[in-house]
Amino acid sequence: MFELRRVSAGYGGHVVLRDVTLKVPPGSVVALLGANGAGKTTLLRVASGLVRPFAGQLLLDDRDVTGLRPHRLVEAGVCHVPEGRGVFPSLTVRDNLRMHCLAGREEEMIAKAIDIFPSLGRRIGALAGTMSGGEQQMLALARAYIQNPRLALLDEVSMGLAPVVVDEIFRFLEILAKEGASLLLVEQYVTRALAIADYVYLLNRGEVRFVGEPDELEGSDIFKEYVGVE
Ligand code: ATP
Repeated sequence: MFELRRVSAGYGGHVVLRDVTLKVPPGSVVALLGANGAGKTTLLRVASGLVRPFAGQLLLDDRDVTGLRPHRLVEAGVCHVPEGRGVFPSLTVRDNLRMHCLAGREEEMIAKAIDIFPSLGRRIGALAGTMSGGEQQMLALARAYIQNPRLALLDEVSMGLAPVVVDEIFRFLEILAKEGASLLLVEQYVTRALAIADYVYLLNRGEVRFVGEPDELEGSDIFKEYVGVE
């Protein structure tokens, strides 16, 4: 179980998240919704240790991991795929993957990446920056996947991509969840996110406005008010 407990956080003196409690049970998919600027990206940054909360705690299996640096959280199985992907454009696909491989297991882990996204195999020697947006996103997701994350933090991973690529990415997310990872998902395709989510949180101006199962949210006035219709 991953939990943010009564977290307040922001940048400098600017408070973005206020007293946010959010739980990601093992093996579950949690969708995090909210209008632009609601604090979704900030919440994922807190969860991955990039932003240290002003108050509150981060708990991983009841262990207090508040204030651990991002690489320590990665070692604990928390994997962040940030908005904008974070791939290294001047490195090849292989080298981008290699950076996330364990010593002695490179070939096996690269094979796993190609198995999940075959198009990466066809571009393995290409510079990442020369690939399409969709291929770069697949690379970013494959880097997370080969690390066998316990918790994947996914920030708008389908943003700006062609529908066929979005389909492939959602198929991937379902595989990742079936293989046992927990997912915390920020997603512009609200209906698709809710279709694979076990639980949903709706943030409004940095506060949790709704927690529940997708069915409870869909059709509610809160949903129409804050998320609108896709
Ligand atoms: P979006 O859907 O637009 O990405 P979001 O819900 O992810 O929105 P955040 O990106 O977390 O929201 O931003 C929440 C608030 O924090 C906004 O007011 C934003 O301007 C501010 N903010 C985000 N990043 C920084 C930063 N690095 N420094 C200062 N303020 C920031």
